[in-house]
Amino acid sequence: MTFDYDLFVIGGGSGGVRAGRLAASDGFKVGLAEEYRMGGTCVIRGCVPKKLMVYASQFSEAFEDAKGFGWRGSECAFDWGRLNGAMHEEITRLEGIYRKNLGAAGVEVFDTRATLVDAHTVKLATGETFTAKHILVAVGGRPFVPEVPGSDLAITSNDIFLMDEQPKSILIVGGGYIACEFAGILNGLGTQVTQFYRGAQILRGFDDEVRGHVAYEMIRKGITLSLGTDVKSITRVGKILQVKCTNGGLTEVDCVLYATGRVPNTASLGLEAAGVETGRKGKIVVDDYSQSNIPSIYAVGDVTDRVNLTPVAIREGAAFVDTVFRGKPTKVDHENIPTAVFTQPEIGTCGLSEEDACEAEPIEVYRSIFRPMMHILAEKPEQMLMKIIVSQKTRRVLGVHIVGHAAAEMIQLVGIAIKMGATKEDFDATMALHPSAAEELVTMKDPTLRD
Ligand code: FAD
Ligand code: NDP
Repeated sequence: MTFDYDLFVIGGGSGGVRAGRLAASDGFKVGLAEEYRMGGTCVIRGCVPKKLMVYASQFSEAFEDAKGFGWRGSECAFDWGRLNGAMHEEITRLEGIYRKNLGAAGVEVFDTRATLVDAHTVKLATGETFTAKHILVAVGGRPFVPEVPGSDLAITSNDIFLMDEQPKSILIVGGGYIACEFAGILNGLGTQVTQFYRGAQILRGFDDEVRGHVAYEMIRKGITLSLGTDVKSITRVGKILQVKCTNGGLTEVDCVLYATGRVPNTASLGLEAAGVETGRKGKIVVDDYSQSNIPSIYAVGDVTDRVNLTPVAIREGAAFVDTVFRGKPTKVDHENIPTAVFTQPEIGTCGLSEEDACEAEPIEVYRSIFRPMMHILAEKPEQMLMKIIVSQKTRRVLGVHIVGHAAAEMIQLVGIAIKMGATKEDFDATMALHPSAAEELVTMKDPTLRD
């Protein structure tokens, strides 16, 4: 049987673009459909604009800190419109690069929605249909907003990048990555931030001490964090949103941002027609090689709800090409992925939390809490936290957790050591780099034993 394409990719985000580009570079005929903007969540409304906003928001504190180092000068004012303009110019530049690279590799791009018809056929919103030997579904995810009276008045992370005006006050609902990152961003930019989280502590799944440390510092920086609190209803009163809370309180804000998780983008995608098995929240169920129950249909990235991070989607896209087009069956290792939460202060983490490691085996916990040198003259009380979790039996480092300045940069490199199976003694044998905050990672002594 002959097909129109060797590969048809649905979704031009991190995973889809990488797979499409690699397969086309190898000489295969590739088509790719993207219904919104090329680059996907990461480039258009995720990692990239978020990180630019994080940088922008850190200046308010840096200006204050600078006074302690002798700087004097007139006050600076923040211009939301100017940041927005610059940010969108950068997004457009990156989108252009994605498009150019796809074109250079020979991928045929369709700027429209695609759905599945059967195991080998896709249909575009334009009405065209194409057949393909293999189909890769890389449609990512979308924000989930729970059904609460008035929750349609709230925005999601998709909207925050498109707001013309900075809200004076905001309520952020959720305690995960996005909620905590935007609480820090908007607080740093001067918005009055209230955050509701339904549970006992934000950032469920992270090391407990890390969670407590970050929450404490977020509150100290001015965020009103209400734990054990959720929204009962939202009502518009003039320009203001009135929020009734589950704890009986009433909060009035300019804007409510729901950051209550994301769900795979599989609604009306034709998965049933093609016979593709789906799981929790509509995710596509795949094996270790990203193959669905229909042999010609694969899925990578957030739509499979494995580890929802950009580098993971990219790696899964590349592994798919190795497996299907290069005769090299390749699994992606989802263990020990370094990750950062760009909260303020920032979290960098890799491997097991103290709690998870302790459940698995007897461990040693090395910890250091200290006021880094950069905070001394600035007279900032904020402390850094570093933890190393070590197996008593094998001496291997099972987890490292860092909270503070440049934690993301540090954990990327620590991730190499953990991946290589480094022991605590390997860390100890590494010469310290002085003066740095990171030197604490190789100088920690005196563990707490947990059996
Ligand atoms: P996406 O990048 O979501 O791409 C899917 C694409 O498919 C989209 O462009 C969509 O328009 C398109 N599409 C959907 N349905 C169809 C269809 N039927 N036809 C055609 N096209 C379709 N990860 C990190 O690693 N670090 C971070 O700092 C980080 N920050 C984030 C901040 C925010 C606010 C958000 C929301 C996410 C963040 N992430 C971060 C997660 C990261 O963005 C995702 O894990 C990553 O983008 C997933 O890539 P993907 O290829 O699976 O999907
Ligand atoms: P998360 O899963 O991280 O957090 C969702 C939050 O919403 C949790 O606190 C959850 O509470 C809460 N929640 C869920 N349902 C409800 C509900 N019905 N009512 C009230 N609260 C609710 O999702 P995010 O949207 O923050 O981020 C999605 C994913 O994107 C992340 O998991 C991550 O993979 C990726 N991401 C990565 C970033 C990075 O690498 N720096 C940055 C941003 C996103 P509970 O814990 O109690 O379930």
